Amino acid sequence: MKFRNFKMVDYVVYGRGAFDQLDEILQPRRIGDKPMIFLVDHFFEGKPLAQRVPVKGKDKIIYVDVTYEPKTTYVDVLANQLKEEFGTVSGIIGIGGGSAMDLAKAVSLMMTNPGSSADYQGWDLVKVAGVYKVGIPTLSGTGAEVSRTTVLTGPTRKLGMNSDFTPFDQIVLDPELCANAPANQRFYTGMDCYIHCIESLTGTYLNEFSKSYGEKALELCRDVFVDKPVWDDECDDKLMMASYAGGMSIAYSQVGVAHAVSYGLSYLLGTKHGIGNCIVFDKLEEYYPEGVKEFKYMVEKNHIDIPQNICANLTDEQFNKMIDVSLGMKPLWENALGKDWEKIISREKLRALYELL
Ligand code: NAD
Ligand code: ZN
Repeated sequence: MKFRNFKMVDYVVYGRGAFDQLDEILQPRRIGDKPMIFLVDHFFEGKPLAQRVPVKGKDKIIYVDVTYEPKTTYVDVLANQLKEEFGTVSGIIGIGGGSAMDLAKAVSLMMTNPGSSADYQGWDLVKVAGVYKVGIPTLSGTGAEVSRTTVLTGPTRKLGMNSDFTPFDQIVLDPELCANAPANQRFYTGMDCYIHCIESLTGTYLNEFSKSYGEKALELCRDVFVDKPVWDDECDDKLMMASYAGGMSIAYSQVGVAHAVSYGLSYLLGTKHGIGNCIVFDKLEEYYPEGVKEFKYMVEKNHIDIPQNICANLTDEQFNKMIDVSLGMKPLWENALGKDWEKIISREKLRALYELL
């Protein structure tokens, strides 16, 4: 057995108002007059947070469009534009949800690696460190702030640039930044974390490392989505740490059925990660009976809408495409169902599951 020796984020600052330390944190990382580039989620354009970004000299704020999940073409455009304008930059700072953070990771890597980001979708294909990169979440749940991947939709597949060069050099965890997230979005992204925990804790890859983080993250998710009568600041504090711990849990194990199935949805229909996972998890009683029961309770308690019948009018060809994408996620199925997973989940069974969504 070969154990994974995994690269973690170098520096972490946590606390309400920690964002105000960003200027001081960036200062020693500035290289001559090369700019810091802030990739800020377009939601914040014209909002007070934009005024607090510590822009100096040639620094630039680029508001990134996260209407759709990040594409390799978008990453390439951003990186090429920066290379043309500045040659090189001091660093890339991603401020936003999982999408803006993933864009920042990918653009940082593409500032130094030749070709297109699509060339690096896979495992350990990135060979050169990117430029200095910082992640600052404004939504909690994906774990993108700690992971060694950046999930991109490319010309032929949706797959991350998984590498030891992918994790951020620094993350700034300031729960205040999540304060105004809409309840539905907060829930969908928060459930990404809840589902990470259930998939990790019930998976065959589980070990004490993953379990320690997964149990804590699950407890925090329950605190905010089950026990709290109304959403308050403490919920944002807790959910931000749940996301971090949930990310650490899957870093040393793997996700499972909900993610494998929702990847198919997202590839074919463009369904976003958080809501897609909720749509799928809602129908996974057979695989995660207790988790699904609790999930349904949280949906009801928090008055959330989970879309239904989204696969109602699909063709055989479309179902087959989703099944292909989903069955391609081999480690996820193996984690969920064990080494003999192919005997348990047939194409017909998966088709029936997609028809339920
Ligand atoms: P998101 O980043 O896609 O953002 C969802 C919506 O919320 C957007 O409209 C955004 O503008 C808005 N938003 C962000 N912060 C806000 C705030 N504070 N207030 C109001 N609106 C806000 O959502 P997400 O669920 O955080 O991220 C999903 C993305 O993360 C997907 O692209 C997925 O592939 C990726 N992901 C990556 C990893 C990883 O390890 N790299 C893990 C899971 C998911
Ligand atoms: Zn996820």
